[in-house]
Amino acid sequence: MTERYPEPEVLRLVSPSSEVLSQEAISIAPSEIDSDEFQALIDGMLDLAQGEQGNPARRTMVGLAAPQLGISKRIIVIGIDADGMGKNPDFKVYVNPQVTRRSSEINIDREGCYSTGRVCGIVERANSVTITAFDRFGNSVTETHDGFVARIFQHEIDHLDGLRFPDRITKTDDLLWVELKDFGDFRDRWQDWPHKCSREKWEAIKRGQA
Ligand SMILES: [Zn+2]
Repeated sequence: MTERYPEPEVLRLVSPSSEVLSQEAISIAPSEIDSDEFQALIDGMLDLAQGEQGNPARRTMVGLAAPQLGISKRIIVIGIDADGMGKNPDFKVYVNPQVTRRSSEINIDREGCYSTGRVCGIVERANSVTITAFDRFGNSVTETHDGFVARIFQHEIDHLDGLRFPDRITKTDDLLWVELKDFGDFRDRWQDWPHKCSREKWEAIKRGQA
């Protein structure tokens, strides 16, 4: 017998080669949102996101999607006031999020992910998005976000569709390699980062062969 959710205290990030990261996640039934089990999962996701902020050995976490924890459900946590410059954000939960409008104006910036290891990259995203979702209490929300926070929404919603940012990168030179100790540097120098990551290497990481 399998449990529908793991116990919150054992929530942890799956490896970049985990198959769940390439699967389309399942929508949450509104009736499910009130359950103790679901609310405990939400608390666990928030605890994990916030806990990483106090961990000096890790990068700043600005968003999290349930598939990154091996849970193929359409739930994301967003650092709603993240600035992309290392600020520890406040997190908010979105259930069944959908992008209902994206600006034609594009924003080009760097991305990294706890589910891509040391692979980072330069990713084109819409500069502004409108999203609809349920909040953690089952209320419908519609919000518009710009810039870095709009980027986080697009990145996390991609996780729900089994997509990671390297698969959105079309220019070979925009796939990059960043050692953990260099993340601070990367934030300032991403535009001319010298360490590239080959497409083959990324594909090997996905297969668990790197
Ligand atoms: Zn990610």
